[in-house]
Amino acid sequence: MTTLLKLLAGGVTTPALAEVAQAESATASELAERVLAGKVVIPAGNCGRHVRATGIGAGLRTKVNANIGASSEFFSEEAELEKLAAAAGAGADTVMDLSSGGGVAFLRRRLLAATSMPFGTVPIYEAASLARDRSGSIVSMTRDDLLSVVESQAGDGVDFMTIHAGLTRSALEQLEAEGRIMDVVSRGGAFMIAWMVHHDRENPFYEDFDLLLDILARFDVTVSLGDGLRPGCLADASDRAQFAELVTLGNLARQAREAGVQAMIEGPGHVPLGEIEANVQMAKKLAEGAPFYVLGPLVTDVAPGYDHITAAIGGALAGAAGADYLCYVTPSEHLGLPKAEDVRLGVIASRIAAHAADIAKGVSGALDWDVRMAAARKSLDWQKQINLSIDPVTAGAIYNGRRSADVPGCSMCGELCAMKIVSEHLGIKAGEISGC
Ligand code: SF4
Repeated sequence: MTTLLKLLAGGVTTPALAEVAQAESATASELAERVLAGKVVIPAGNCGRHVRATGIGAGLRTKVNANIGASSEFFSEEAELEKLAAAAGAGADTVMDLSSGGGVAFLRRRLLAATSMPFGTVPIYEAASLARDRSGSIVSMTRDDLLSVVESQAGDGVDFMTIHAGLTRSALEQLEAEGRIMDVVSRGGAFMIAWMVHHDRENPFYEDFDLLLDILARFDVTVSLGDGLRPGCLADASDRAQFAELVTLGNLARQAREAGVQAMIEGPGHVPLGEIEANVQMAKKLAEGAPFYVLGPLVTDVAPGYDHITAAIGGALAGAAGADYLCYVTPSEHLGLPKAEDVRLGVIASRIAAHAADIAKGVSGALDWDVRMAAARKSLDWQKQINLSIDPVTAGAIYNGRRSADVPGCSMCGELCAMKIVSEHLGIKAGEISGC
């Protein structure tokens, strides 16, 4: 088996590349150049599962990921399948299974069989969960356990994996010197630090990175280089520990590409609004333009219950500054395992952020959507407005639940609808606007 990078290097264009090029208004050769330069990834493992062709990176529409998955405290196959359906229904581009307890492999296979979205995982979660089941402690996982979980997940058809290979002992020293308030909030980062400290060893994913790349190349899995030291609160943002890890991630991304493995870089987290642009620029520079995948970022720490909004504010700014891929955040972030409705709200919020960013970035066709909506609003074409909404169900429910049958406008101004009055006085009737 070969990888997309190796095929493109040999001048072979794949159907997935052609499909992404068409969807993103790029030519296949332009897109192939960006993939070869490491600026775009098209995550799709080669295990025979049908994967919707999705490009992430420079010049492309900003993509949205939804995290689902069970925990050791709450495991329900039915609930996770419901969340998967909610993510797909709300328009997520990709999904990640972050299960860390119960039947992790069983659930992953069920979810994989139920979706064609590019599918991601964090293998250390399963390795830690297996170690805990076996011996009662996550630190009993071995280096071989980690690689064997990667291989098993790749064989199941996973398309991209978060690997915390940049959290080295040197970065850990920086962390200890920083005196952060929250130290480490990444689950994978915490597992890795516990293992490194307990065994007094270097990060096994870092030491065995070549072996890891051999497995990922065999299955054409894209590596998403995780930021185990991402800041978990605004006060910890943009410190030496975060950037020490980022420098390593940039080096590992290059090493991955050289091995024929597509790579992207993960980023924060919690970041003050004024530091987001610099964070994106730094990541892009250090990783030579690799796709940048941010979690949020959340722009304040004080809105539990509304963190889909704090993340969407940060996501819009990060996307406008060049981030390529937004990991959604749900209203239940920091409070509990999300339910299907939380997933739906999280995806919608991140899609709004991504679209706003695409307009700012000048992504082809992004503004056209808003122009069509403006024309529909001007012509008081309610069905068209609802159909064009990012969430037609909610828009339709609000309009239809409050409308008055006698007036062309909505129940906000009724007969005094500005759109209607101005159209009449300018000699244009509502519904006759050109292009509506
Ligand atoms: S009634 Fe008011 S809010 Fe509703 S469409 Fe007309 S101007 Fe807009």
